[in-house]
Amino acid sequence: MTDRIRIETPAAGVTRIVLARAEQRNAQDRQMLDELDAAFTAAADDPAVKVIVLAADGPDFSSGHDLVDFAVLNDMTVDEHVALERKIFLGYCQRWRDIPKPTIAQVQGRVIAGGLMLVWPCDLIVAADDARFSDPVVAFGVNGHEFFVHAWELGHRKAKELLFRGTALAAQEAAALGMVNQVVARAELEAATLAIAQEIAARPAIGLRLAKESVNGSLDAMGQPQALERAFALHHVGHAHQRAAHGLPIDPAGVEVIRGGARPS
Ligand code: ZN
Repeated sequence: MTDRIRIETPAAGVTRIVLARAEQRNAQDRQMLDELDAAFTAAADDPAVKVIVLAADGPDFSSGHDLVDFAVLNDMTVDEHVALERKIFLGYCQRWRDIPKPTIAQVQGRVIAGGLMLVWPCDLIVAADDARFSDPVVAFGVNGHEFFVHAWELGHRKAKELLFRGTALAAQEAAALGMVNQVVARAELEAATLAIAQEIAARPAIGLRLAKESVNGSLDAMGQPQALERAFALHHVGHAHQRAAHGLPIDPAGVEVIRGGARPS
């Protein structure tokens, strides 16, 4: 159906959506995000699917947004820019968070900025021991990536450190903070994730759906939607500031910082 992702059925009741842009370290362009949204929607609508796994080819789960494709933002009006980010960044993430079926992120290697926007909307995160999570986009002169649940995922103090320093959080540390459910050896990542998916797929769909909606409703009751909206507005204060200062929606000096973080070690 696509050339940015691949869809597999590794076991009864389990669908696996795989980012298939390994040579670009699964950088997300608009096409990939649209294809992901279509795949998530199809899996949500398919009664044969009980659990959805989101995985990625190659050494790195995702290096974030494809800066070449998103150069299109440079020529947009502020209004067009806000509308696009609301649809394909904030909007898709909120929709994926609320898919009425369990979702599991299967993560290895680097997960940078927009990469976190694929991982955090999932219900569970299983990480290889080489996984590293970062959001260095303060270097661009904005607050962080657009699905701003950092404090919910990491706690407020670690969230600030991640954002201020732009450094990466290792898998074990992410697990200690409660952001990652399980850390496994890289060679066991796929099998370990599938085993959890199959265990969950054996449960009744209605129980899973009600449990998920109840937990997400708890986050909503704690104010997560309002916090997201406020952060999204502040994010666009950042973009507007950079447009006034540089004529671009991000500080160009940050590009090398981000690319440096995406380089293989
Ligand atoms: Zn943005």
